[in-house]
This record gives sequence, structure tokens and C-alpha cells, in this order.
Amino acid sequence: MKSQPIVDRKECLQIVNDVVVNPVGKRPIDKLRYQAQYLIIKAYDIAAERGHCEHPLQLKSGTWEYNFYQLGAYLQRLADCWDDSNPAASRRQALDLKPAFVLFKKGNSKLPFYSWSTLPAVTCPGAGDCLNWCYSFTSWRYPAAFARQIQNTILINLAEEKYYSTDFNPAYNIIETAFLNLPDHVVLRLYVDGDFSNWKTIRFWFTALTLRPDIDAYGYSKSWADILEYFTMSEVNGLPVPDNYYLNVSNGSKYDSDDDMQSKIMSLPITRGRFVAVDIEGKYEKGFAKKDNREYHKEVRQKIREQYPDTAAFSCPMLCGECTKKEHACGSGRFDKVVIGIGIHN
Ligand code: SF4
Repeated sequence: MKSQPIVDRKECLQIVNDVVVNPVGKRPIDKLRYQAQYLIIKAYDIAAERGHCEHPLQLKSGTWEYNFYQLGAYLQRLADCWDDSNPAASRRQALDLKPAFVLFKKGNSKLPFYSWSTLPAVTCPGAGDCLNWCYSFTSWRYPAAFARQIQNTILINLAEEKYYSTDFNPAYNIIETAFLNLPDHVVLRLYVDGDFSNWKTIRFWFTALTLRPDIDAYGYSKSWADILEYFTMSEVNGLPVPDNYYLNVSNGSKYDSDDDMQSKIMSLPITRGRFVAVDIEGKYEKGFAKKDNREYHKEVRQKIREQYPDTAAFSCPMLCGECTKKEHACGSGRFDKVVIGIGIHN
């Protein structure tokens, strides 16, 4: 019999709601302190439920309580440095703190790139039907993945505070520094989980990407309204538009039936092209097992052409690191406007 996870999906949603959506506090620093305390108390609660000793040194590595404690303790240290009453020098020490989790995760054999993720759904303003099949929720089975998503969401939300104040904002600098320290010429998938939550998040990333033109970034954002809002402001105010970010336009957003919005998104300079799921009829192996099945890829290309007869079609090879001999299609200018597809059975 499968053992039940100690923190299930329902409780994860409650934690997300309490910590990220509705943290108690007026000022950002108050909310940060609340978030830290909530997670530390949660860690103790879980440890107590499991009969563990309520001492942080005895929390077992890898457990829910361990990961919540690590994150809570980091946020606590961050809040202590950031406090308004501190002199500027000690507030800057926030930059020397080691985050509880690395901000940019190096990938695996399927996605061997660096990636940035936040919490799914709560950072996805364009989410529509995709919420019904969003794979990101499966990562909530893993305490460290869930805690990393919380950490990054809190930091990027705090980073936006920069635009309300000229004051020093450690969160902005923490993410920016980690980004600027990425190795040369890496590929970065912006948002494996989560999405640009508003135009300010887009401004953060687009500004950062212009500082590192050697990084090749790409993503599948469904935050179309926010992206279009950003581009409108960019035309007026000259906000930066990076050459090194490719947007793949995928289905499942709440704008799927909005043709006008789709055509505006498709015409943006950052847009590579569509990435779509197509219905297939053939019987093939499950999941990645069919990656070498020529008949599967043939049917996917055929279905793409039926829907998009005027554009070239490419069936997703499923392993991003071995996508083509030279590059990965979703982040390549060579695949400009090519429709990339995966097959699904409905
Ligand atoms: S087309 Fe290539 S880069 Fe895009 S998802 Fe598929 S394997 Fe990855």
C-alpha cells in the first residue's frame, strides 16, 4: 500500500494561501516576518505530529519539516537584515545570506538547462484550462521543490516593491545577483512552474536579460495580457525588450478563444511560434517511451499541418537536451513561427 504524503495537496494549497496569497502584515517587511514565522511553526507542528524532537538540529534532511524550517529560517534572517530600523550597511548584508534553496535549478536529462520556477496557479494570471492538467502540481509531492517555489515566489513578489520605492530592495538584488552569476552561455527556461505574474515581473526579467545577452532564455508564458501591457508601456517609455528571450505560444490559457489577442501575441518580436498539443488517434507507447517512434511523430506532424496548413510543423522529440543536433527548438530562431506539437489522446 502506498504511504500517504505527510503534507498532501490540500494542505499545500492552504500553506500557499496563508503564506503567499494572504500573508498577515501591512508592510512587506511585516509580511516577510509573518511568512518566516508561519513556516517555522509549520515545521515544528509537522515534526511534533511525527513524534520528532522539536529541535531544528534534529529535523531530518529532506523531510517536509526540514525544508519548511530551512525556508522559514532564511526568510527570518532576510527580514532581520532588511528591517527599516537597521543602518544601510547591515541591510546590505541580506545579499550575503545563503538562500534556503538555489534560485536557479540546473536541470536533468529531459531538461538539462537552468530554470526559474515559482508557484503554479497563484503566479499564472493567464491560466485557463491548463489548470486541469498542470504538471507543476505533481512537484508538490517533493518538499524541496514546493519550498523552492514558495521561496522564489516570495522573493520575486518582494523584488517588485523596488518600483514603489527608491529604497534598497534586497530581494531584487538577490535574484539579480544569482542570475548574473549564472555560467556563461547557458540556456535558461524562465518558468518551468509558475509564470510572469504581472508586467513588473516581466520588467524585472527583461531588464535582467539585457544585462546578460549571452544567456539564451525561453518560456511558454500564458500571461499574454501582462506581456501585451508591458509592450505597450515599452513603446511609450522605452522599457527594455531582450533579444535573448523566446516566447512559445501554447494552448490552455484563458485567452484561447481570443483571436485578436493571439494575433497580437504572435506578432511580438519575442515570439518564436506556437507550441501546441494535438489530438492523435494512433496507439503508441506511454510518455517518453514513444520518443523514438517514427509513426507517432509522423502523425503529430500531420495533425499540426491539418490545423496550421501554412506553417512548418515539428514534432517535439521530448528530450530538450537532444532536441535537434544543434539546439533546442523552443528556444531557437531557426524555428521561427514553426508550429511545434506534442500528441495527446483525448
Ligand atoms: S521541441 Fe525540443 S525544446 Fe521544445 S519541448 Fe520539445 S524537446 Fe524540448
